[in-house]
Amino acid sequence: MTTAFLTHPDGLDHATPPGHAECADRLRAVTEALTTEGFAGLLREEAPLADEAELLRAHPQGYIDAVKAAIPAEGTASLDPDTHVSPGSFRAALRALGGTLRAVDMVMAGAAANAFVAMRPPGHHAEAARAMGFCLFSNIAIAAKYALDRYGLARVAVVDFDVHHGNGTQDLLWSEPRTLFVSSHQMPLYPGTGEAAETGAADNVLNLPLAPRSDGRAFRAAFEAHALPRLEAFAPELVLVSAGFDAHAADPLAELAWRTEDFAWITHRLCDIAETHSGGRLVSTLEGGYDLEALGASAAAHVAVLMERGA
Ligand SMILES: [Zn+2]
Repeated sequence: MTTAFLTHPDGLDHATPPGHAECADRLRAVTEALTTEGFAGLLREEAPLADEAELLRAHPQGYIDAVKAAIPAEGTASLDPDTHVSPGSFRAALRALGGTLRAVDMVMAGAAANAFVAMRPPGHHAEAARAMGFCLFSNIAIAAKYALDRYGLARVAVVDFDVHHGNGTQDLLWSEPRTLFVSSHQMPLYPGTGEAAETGAADNVLNLPLAPRSDGRAFRAAFEAHALPRLEAFAPELVLVSAGFDAHAADPLAELAWRTEDFAWITHRLCDIAETHSGGRLVSTLEGGYDLEALGASAAAHVAVLMERGA
């Protein structure tokens, strides 16, 4: 068995205004970090275009049409102050979703032990009918709903270690008792949600807010005390991961102080859960991370652990 790595150059064609943190160089940083010799064993696949109908698992048709209608013939257009689209954005978004769904298919079929999907735009801030925080469509929530329906699973865990709260994922999975959504994030910080008191309609949401300047030790202690017991008790049949690398100390958009090895640590813990309960099945998809060097190194550390544990 092996680790699958899915990406596509169409992800570079989602353009944002000059100087925007969520830029094509992010995807280049991740893919280039995975070209060294240690990653030769990755099972590389191009992220396919998702069927547009898959978007309906999380988003109403009217919202999908509105995003399409906002796509400019050239340059960029704004959906909100942070979130922009360009001529290539819809196609890039369909590949970001398509890669994630393909990765689910691969791990469910046993074609790969686990998988990492590096595409953009990211997804965890997108709500049902609202683009926000650089995100257009909720790749990870759609993947969770897809896995439940397509494979008849009873329990899918979604773990989001991006430094920002995964408000969109929480919104879309709030009333889905077959999912457990766990998010660690800096608080206060954009988008402002993610209090520990937000627990989901079926006690299926666990938020771990972390104070600014918290380091990896604080995160590990909180995750071990609160998240691991909940994930163990939930016993997921599939583990999905919103992998943002912006909790790194070098990241310009937030004030947590994780190091590269903290991303390796959380990856090991998530693989522990997957090995115990879900036959090792884990699909991780790129969310944030805005210091290019830290992003590349942290994503490489994440994928190296996936490969070690998936071997
Ligand atoms: Zn983020």
